[in-house]
Amino acid sequence: MRYRKLGLTELNVSLLGFGASPLGDVFFRTNPEEGTQAVHHAIDEGVNLFDVSPYYGLTLAEERLGSALVGKRDSVILATKCGRYGDHIFDFSPRGVTSGLEGSLRRLRTDYVDLLQVHDIEFGDTEQVINETLPALRQLQKQGKARYIGITGYSLKTLLRVAAELPVDAMLSYCRYNLLVTDMDVALVPFARQHEIGLINASPLHMGMLTENGAPEWHPAEPAVHAASRRVEAICKAKGVSLPELAIRFCLAHPYVSSTLVGMATQRQVDENLRALNAVDDDELIAEIQAVIVPDQNAVWPSGREEN
Ligand code: NAD
Repeated sequence: MRYRKLGLTELNVSLLGFGASPLGDVFFRTNPEEGTQAVHHAIDEGVNLFDVSPYYGLTLAEERLGSALVGKRDSVILATKCGRYGDHIFDFSPRGVTSGLEGSLRRLRTDYVDLLQVHDIEFGDTEQVINETLPALRQLQKQGKARYIGITGYSLKTLLRVAAELPVDAMLSYCRYNLLVTDMDVALVPFARQHEIGLINASPLHMGMLTENGAPEWHPAEPAVHAASRRVEAICKAKGVSLPELAIRFCLAHPYVSSTLVGMATQRQVDENLRALNAVDDDELIAEIQAVIVPDQNAVWPSGREEN
């Protein structure tokens, strides 16, 4: 495993991180024993960043991850979130995020997290996030309940706006840097680099789309993007290349991103995805793929409040 410092923090995170949302049955029903095995196997293979949220499976993912981490808390860098508690349930108030973290700590069976992130900030009032939520997170940091704090979201514009107003230790975005979309590289990376803010890239499989099973029904992308991903799949199949491996490899090669978070729920997926670390870059194949996804490349969907 290779590791990279997360911005200016002391967290040395694995290049491949474990996204725990599938443990909350967000994509499909999973087997909890298999999920536990996946977590243990990932730790044995050197994965140390585990990312979760009370939103995933409405606390189920945190419950299951917490149970899998019993006796292993010190082997991992644990990241969770606050502020989002359901599809349409948000509470970015200081009281809300403080009690939110208490619940997370209980479920994760620990008394601190390494990274506490405000979840999907584009759904909140940006002024509140800047003036109330992040100061509340700094308080929690002072109390030793969170080592570092960050923000997450789909809207790069909102992440930028908040981070430009108030320093944060880390930022996370999803579905903005992978085989289908790369706009994070121009819209967020230069700012993160300049201010040495840790950057986490989530959803290298475009939330399941870049796999043989395809995306879940709730996936927000337009049908044309689904069709483009099937064209990518066909190219990989014809060349005998594993689509998830190639997709993850593409993200792992990013020079600034500290960790790429892949959602996993079985040991088999952990093994398959770890292979991407040792895969060889194939620029010709990537160029061929990028040629077939134009004009559907960099297609994004609306997220959060209109003004964000
Ligand atoms: P992803 O692109 O990592 O895809 C996950 C899906 O791919 C799951 O269905 C998983 O079972 C499947 N999969 C994984 N490896 C596979 C393989 N080798 N073969 C076939 N299928 C495979 O999307 P994601 O899970 O949404 O993103 C990763 C993590 O990033 C999340 O679990 C979460 O921790 C984090 N995340 C955070 C935010 C946020 O903060 N707003 C948003 C999205 C994701």
